Amino acid sequence: MKMSKLYMPTLREVPSEAEIPSHQLLLRAGMMRKLVSGIYSYLPLGYRVIRKIEDIVREEMDNAGSQEALMSAIQPRELWDASGRWENFGPEMFKLKDRNNRDFCLGPTHEEYFSSLIKDEIKSYKQLPLNLYQIQTKYRDEKRPRFGLIRAREFIMKDAYSFDKDEEGMENSYKEMWEAYDKIFTRLKLKYKVVEGDSGAMGGNHSHEYMAMSEVGEGLIAYCDKCDYAATDEKAIVVYNVEESNEDMGKMEKVHTPNATTIDDLVDFFKIEKSRFGKAIVYNVSGEPVVVIIPGDRELNETKLCNYLKVPEHEIEMADEETIIRISGANKGFTGPVGLKEYAKVLVDSRITKMKNLIVGGNETDYHLKNVNYGRDFNGEVVEDLLLVEEGDICPKCGISLSMDRGIEVGNIFQLGTKYSKSLGATYLDENGKEKPIVMGSYGVGVSRSMSAIVEQYHDEHGIIWPLIVAPYHVIITIINNKNEEQKELAEKLYQDLKNEGLEVILDDRNERPGVKFNDRDLIGIPIRITVGRGATENIVEYSLRRDGVNIEIGADEIMDRIKDEFKREDIEI
Ligand code: ATP
Ligand code: MG
Repeated sequence: MKMSKLYMPTLREVPSEAEIPSHQLLLRAGMMRKLVSGIYSYLPLGYRVIRKIEDIVREEMDNAGSQEALMSAIQPRELWDASGRWENFGPEMFKLKDRNNRDFCLGPTHEEYFSSLIKDEIKSYKQLPLNLYQIQTKYRDEKRPRFGLIRAREFIMKDAYSFDKDEEGMENSYKEMWEAYDKIFTRLKLKYKVVEGDSGAMGGNHSHEYMAMSEVGEGLIAYCDKCDYAATDEKAIVVYNVEESNEDMGKMEKVHTPNATTIDDLVDFFKIEKSRFGKAIVYNVSGEPVVVIIPGDRELNETKLCNYLKVPEHEIEMADEETIIRISGANKGFTGPVGLKEYAKVLVDSRITKMKNLIVGGNETDYHLKNVNYGRDFNGEVVEDLLLVEEGDICPKCGISLSMDRGIEVGNIFQLGTKYSKSLGATYLDENGKEKPIVMGSYGVGVSRSMSAIVEQYHDEHGIIWPLIVAPYHVIITIINNKNEEQKELAEKLYQDLKNEGLEVILDDRNERPGVKFNDRDLIGIPIRITVGRGATENIVEYSLRRDGVNIEIGADEIMDRIKDEFKREDIEI
């Protein structure tokens, strides 16, 4: 490709809406453009990267025995009514009507669609297992689209669905997909961790997420340095040991605590540690108030709360001030489990039941209660674990302390079981002629999100540093002086020769100053660089790699050997 013809609208300035490096660099390097919030166009260079990621995903899915298909992005409501997700998916679903007023959605995912697709064709155990995938555009009206391709409203996903006759078969399919994903993300050069995930709205009970490590990642991971335990913060089990105390229960007393509305205020006031308080958090769950009591030194995990209450995430929100005043009879900051003024469901984290003589909100403005004990002074539904994991918590598997890190979720795998096959009627006849629901799994890779994740892991202050395997072009040849015939001729010759060797090459033949050309090649991140300058008369060029920038002078006839070494180093065939 000649750069003078390439549609690569680079930007000098950092676009103001872009907060993180990948978002800034993909825009600046002319790889993508925003249409509206969360919706992007891929420009020629960016789209080449997308296609390379897709190809790797394809190869590994094919190798794992999955077969590529392509569904429609538009789906009729009936499919989603059958699974209950027309309502449950919530406002993230883009809904539309056709001219006859029939409801449709733009597919946010395809579990229902694939279940219904295979149900009329798959009749017998002999046709199982089956694994199908597609690479397709997905639509989700995200609450907070941000970070460019990382949380977009239109994005490219590879989604796969496995169909097995029993749990054992599903576990096997799951393992095969796990291995395929390891190969995909390793080939994409991503540094990643596989962590236990929450299955939430997907149904099913077992899932893992592939997290590309990055400090800008929206996902928090808790992991153990000693054993293999690793989970998202949504999922991580909190081991919070409370010694059963022998303390006698004191007499419950009202204490005047003017303006002490936060745990920090209370610690100052009472001069005791945070863990002696019972924190009350009021939620509005599908319109009903729920009061949750947890230890004062911890945070609540909303995912665990949703799972316990069996409601989707969009059905819960923190209660507004008015609701708090109504049910507690006091201003915000003084709610507690004793003497609520109006009925509310009270959930109690199990650790609270083992604590003695807690201090809690008094349900009266400017008052708290001390020496409050579960069972004697208040009751509620006890929930094993409602807490959010913290750095230093104890590993539930091996007992040493957990570390925390951030990651970008680039893929996930779910054991779905029979939720979708049962609701959509996808059954088969087993060896004894008995009708059984197909046991399913689903497996996603964020293709466009992966492009951003790669840029997050591979960039510097000058631009992107594409790993060779996904780079839009392998080599860039820069002509220092366009008016010099020898330089031009040698550069043109190298350009043709390298292309004939099967390499993807850009020739920067623009009438720009060398400084401009160097800045652009750094920005767009082409891995292998050849500079044709004064040495052209002796057939000498400069050779360098984007990743280390070290320039060496070599004879033009040595170039191909160097390039071959680089491909070998990266374990890629030309
Ligand atoms: P998240 O927790 O980040 O919202 P999810 O659990 O909703 O992700 P899935 O429904 O499992 O994601 O989708 C499969 C994959 O699609 C994810 O692992 C992710 O890589 C990608 N993905 C999901 N939502 C988006 C989005 N809004 N923009 C870009 N990629 C996305
Ligand atoms: Mg999501």
